[in-house]
Amino acid sequence: MFEYAPAPESRAVVDIKASYGLFIDGAFSDPADGASFKTINPASEEVLSEVAEGGPADVDRAVAAARKAYDKVWSRMPGRDRAKYLYRIARIIQERGRELAVLESLDNGKPIRESRDVDIPLVAAHFFYYAGWADKLPYAGFGPAPRPLGVAAQVIPWNFPLLMLAWKIAPALAAGNTVVLKPAETTPLTALLFAEICQQADLPPGVVNIVTGAGDTGRALVEHAGVDKIAFTGSTEVGKAIARSAAGSRKKVTLELGGKAANVLFEDAPIDQAVEGIVNGIFFNQGHVCCAGSRLLVQESVYEPVLASLKRRMARLRVGDPLDKNTDIGAINSAAQLERIRTLSDIGGEEGAERWSPPCDLPDNGFWFAPTIFTGVTQAHRIAREEIFGPVLSVLTFRTPAEAVEKANNTPYGLSAGVWTEKGSRILWMADRLRAGVVWANTFNKFDPTSPFGGYKESGYGREGGRHGLEAYLDV
Ligand code: NAD
Ligand code: MN
Repeated sequence: MFEYAPAPESRAVVDIKASYGLFIDGAFSDPADGASFKTINPASEEVLSEVAEGGPADVDRAVAAARKAYDKVWSRMPGRDRAKYLYRIARIIQERGRELAVLESLDNGKPIRESRDVDIPLVAAHFFYYAGWADKLPYAGFGPAPRPLGVAAQVIPWNFPLLMLAWKIAPALAAGNTVVLKPAETTPLTALLFAEICQQADLPPGVVNIVTGAGDTGRALVEHAGVDKIAFTGSTEVGKAIARSAAGSRKKVTLELGGKAANVLFEDAPIDQAVEGIVNGIFFNQGHVCCAGSRLLVQESVYEPVLASLKRRMARLRVGDPLDKNTDIGAINSAAQLERIRTLSDIGGEEGAERWSPPCDLPDNGFWFAPTIFTGVTQAHRIAREEIFGPVLSVLTFRTPAEAVEKANNTPYGLSAGVWTEKGSRILWMADRLRAGVVWANTFNKFDPTSPFGGYKESGYGREGGRHGLEAYLDV
């Protein structure tokens, strides 16, 4: 045996300012009432920066800037010229990838291995992909001359801060819309660095506006009479409130909400490989993933070996410093989210499920939660029904494929699902019956800009990604 040697990524590559203003009309400015809030590093609770909190007057100014840019510049610009800006942004994201990855890990708590190898490459890929569509919209299948909608109000969560920004901004701009985006209050910094990238790319002022703040700022933005389109990703509760407030208005709405995905493991699947996917499905990004495989449905005949393999694998997960390149599980994003995870997990225990975590030393400062599984879970348990949004897996069993389908679909959500089996025919049979927007087979959490992503039922409506993702930003 040898001593563990940490390999932290240097944070010297990022230059975090002491404070940030709002990015409106191509420049940073102070909010009308001077309000601000702090964003912290959830792995240490260190304050990273003081960020402007936008109020109604600031939202007004941002929407006006977006409207002016839409009318005067962006909606009139030929698609091939919009494409040049998007390609330029994509290339700058690649060039500044290390900086973006370190900043994302600092502000969010996710492992550098993920921000560096998953988030940031996918962000660049989304801009490249939609840049390609900007001059080909008549071929997207939405009529010969599809028109943009106008000003898009976009509100995003904290789990994939820059990636959710890319999912929202890239298709909106490609289709000829201008945007006002509000990042989550715990993770505003990469969106503000993106604002600097827009300046670096010479994007015309007002095409992208970033208004930081919390829920009230988001509400002021989505309820603003001057926006034509609302795109929201976050909790089902807030999504429902937004849908209610937009009802009866001319605003087009897309919602990407929660999930409670099942990974269905059949007895013929290669167990160790499947367990690798199950582990990735729930412990990737601390389980802060709307499509996380938070329920494992195991065929009863292989329950014992699967559980043994799962525990063995979980004991190897390294929890700790997000900037350490060996870290598998980083910090929980906020004290509030940690509290939610703890509460639901305690309820799981009280309801009679059996809780297990591998032994692991958690750092003293910051927000941490050891990878956890619950066995003996039934459909009636809250941990089987509610989104925990943390590194917690509920394990259930089934005997027949029909029972697996019924259990997998027994949820108000319908975002994603996973199937693990050697039989191709069974994959197709399951995919036909699972009520989920995405069904992965013998893999999980695979994302690609060409592929549409979105939910059924309470997971929301509308699709992001691919050709389908353009529809949300076109008047079709
Ligand atoms: P949230 O829905 O409150 O926050 C998401 C975004 O919406 C943030 O930018 C927030 O400032 C903004 N917001 C909040 N209230 C708003 C309002 N009334 N109008 C407009 N915007 C508003 O989510 P949360 O409190 O950060 O997390 C709560 C739970 O939601 C999590 O535990 C998890 O279960 C779920 N969640 C899901 C996703 C997802 O990707 N689907 C992302 C984050 C959280
Ligand atoms: Mn933060």
